[in-house]
Amino acid sequence: MQAKIIDGKAISAQLKAEAAEDVKQMKENGITPRLAVVLVGDNSASKVYVRNKQRACEEVGIASKTVLMGEETTEAELLQLIDELNQDQSVHGILVQLPLPKQIDEAKIILAIDPKKDVDCFHPLNVGSLFTGGEGFLPCTPAGIIEMIRRSGYEIAGKRCVIIGRSNIVGKPVAMLLMKENGTVTICHSKTKDLPGVCREADILVCATGKRNTVTADMIKEGAVVIDVGMNRDEAGKLCGDVDYAAVSQVAGAITPVPGGVGPMTIAMLMKNCVTAARQQTQA
Ligand code: NDP
Repeated sequence: MQAKIIDGKAISAQLKAEAAEDVKQMKENGITPRLAVVLVGDNSASKVYVRNKQRACEEVGIASKTVLMGEETTEAELLQLIDELNQDQSVHGILVQLPLPKQIDEAKIILAIDPKKDVDCFHPLNVGSLFTGGEGFLPCTPAGIIEMIRRSGYEIAGKRCVIIGRSNIVGKPVAMLLMKENGTVTICHSKTKDLPGVCREADILVCATGKRNTVTADMIKEGAVVIDVGMNRDEAGKLCGDVDYAAVSQVAGAITPVPGGVGPMTIAMLMKNCVTAARQQTQA
């Protein structure tokens, strides 16, 4: 049986349309949500991500302001800029594209961003709020994963959820959100024993390793929902995920493609967070 494709592009289009509707209403009340995107240095992948975010802002009607800083930017210069953006009442969201050049301490920069404007949800206050189940922003990629499972009609409550990867930006927050949805969660990593055996227990399997072919067909329970977060390049330079898509889609019940899966969801959730940030700061 061929797995159903979970179309991240289509679901993200729905989310962006909802955000656009919210923005339209806010504009009628005289408020234009504005996102400041800071790009430091020449990382070519980062430039593509920033361009995609600018494009999404245009689509949704969010004003975006991109600040480009040179590779030699000092930590003090970047902190100064963040302070200005924190003070600027016309800016509701601040996103500093990672990674940063090595002379800059990323943790210090994240800590400097006003938590109310932290639309990436990387600030420890927002991370803490996620862990204690309180209100606040949800991190874009993990929240996008939950949204795509939900909007495709799959139940999370009571399901065995296995996540491969324990990073702060994907694995750990995905675990928190799946648990919040009442899934029974297992987190795996590079030291996990019998990874295939653990994965075969999964009704929902999320893979975020950044390694091609981490997940093969023999690791899948028949009918499982497989979410592929990975973004890698194959020998031909083509974008691919962490999952052996062709073989796994013969066993899984549903699967996300790469490209066109988790990636577009991440950007759509960022747009949602910008709207939320503007709303909270202006009470619009
Ligand atoms: P990290 O490198 O920070 O974390 C990778 C995790 O995978 C680690 O916990 C590591 O284990 C684990 N891991 C690596 N290899 C294996 C293996 N063979 N078996 C089991 N576990 C393994 O990556 P990120 O979480 O930042 O990103 C993961 C992928 O997701 C990347 O391809 C990234 O580009 C992509 N990504 C995509 C996004 C999107 O919007 N589509 C957004 C963010 C990320 P250990 O801790 O033991 O080292």
